[in-house]
Amino acid sequence: MDQKKLRTWAEIDLGALEHNYRVLRKEIPYTCRFLGLCKADAYGHGAVEVGLKLQELGADMLAVACLDEGLELRKHGITIPILCLGETPVEAAQLLVEQDMIQMVGDLMYGKALSEISQKIGKPVVIHIKIDTGMGRLGFLWDEAHKTQTLQALEELCHLEGIYAQGVFTHFSCADCDEAFTTLQLERFQQVKEELEKKKIYLSNYHCAASAATLSYPQTHMDMVRPGIALYGYDPTGQENHLLKPVMTVKSRITTVRTVPEGWSVSYGGTVKLKNETKLAVIPIGYGDGYPRILSNRTTMLVRDIPCPVVGRICMDMCMIDVSQVPDVQEGEQVTVYNGALIQEAAQKTDTIVYEILCSVGKRVPRVYVSSVSK
Ligand SMILES: *Cc1c(COP(=O)(O)O)cnc(C)c1O
Repeated sequence: MDQKKLRTWAEIDLGALEHNYRVLRKEIPYTCRFLGLCKADAYGHGAVEVGLKLQELGADMLAVACLDEGLELRKHGITIPILCLGETPVEAAQLLVEQDMIQMVGDLMYGKALSEISQKIGKPVVIHIKIDTGMGRLGFLWDEAHKTQTLQALEELCHLEGIYAQGVFTHFSCADCDEAFTTLQLERFQQVKEELEKKKIYLSNYHCAASAATLSYPQTHMDMVRPGIALYGYDPTGQENHLLKPVMTVKSRITTVRTVPEGWSVSYGGTVKLKNETKLAVIPIGYGDGYPRILSNRTTMLVRDIPCPVVGRICMDMCMIDVSQVPDVQEGEQVTVYNGALIQEAAQKTDTIVYEILCSVGKRVPRVYVSSVSK
């Protein structure tokens, strides 16, 4: 794509993705499988392009949040297994089977409904069973009080007609912040495996580690890991991680540069009255592009690596920056709205996590794929 024609765009560096994939692969045993998270349009990076790249690199499986996300990947040439992490409505489950997707099952009722569908269409439904070891979201509850009941339900589920239980998984709620609780969740999960095996139920794929556990707790790697945010270049703890490379950079172009007099009021609400004569540039990105309005007067963009403060309220489609420090600044010059550090800063300043900043970069911002050479 000709970037000169673009207003504002997100550069997605597939070389950085490859680099992060290799960094994560090095953390896990050779025999451990790798599932790459592609939900929410691959955390805003573009699920099809990311999925194709991960497939090419040798990922064993991808995961999505819902059926539609999986269908999009299948439509665009992704043939490796896809795990659907959300519950697909029973009414749509036929598509799931036809498109060869794996379904998360977190309760027996749902399992039974899928079993009926499977018998109707004459093809097995492949499932991964979700265990709730302490996330409190989805899955069969597992602790001392619930294990007998859950074990019974799991036995029944695994023997349902038309159901092929291929895997079992759980999700940590605090792998980035609470070692004791993570250990408790892991112990519960390992107990699920032991108890199922006592019942002669052997499933081939036990997995629990998202990015935080993949990076910090080798004992959680088991048969497969499921990193998301680390693939996109960030440490889930919000700490700097020099091993990983941010994959997304949001860029824009200066629309106009004007010298505005001392005392002039800038943008909605007149939150700023200029203390000095100021060179202001208009940048065509706003909250309509997912650039958070709460960053008004609180962040910077880079012009030739020179930090330029955002001045006044961020509007829907544009905002203003102070380019007084940039010598001989030109209209049409490139601006870096977000690089890795600015994304982390935006997350901190808006009291959220980089995940949300990445997912918020709007549909109006085209993704442009580049590939830096990775080593
Ligand atoms: C999103 C998600 C992941 C990946 O989490 P990251 O923190 O991005 O690595 C893994 N497993 C499940 C079930 C998820 O929903």
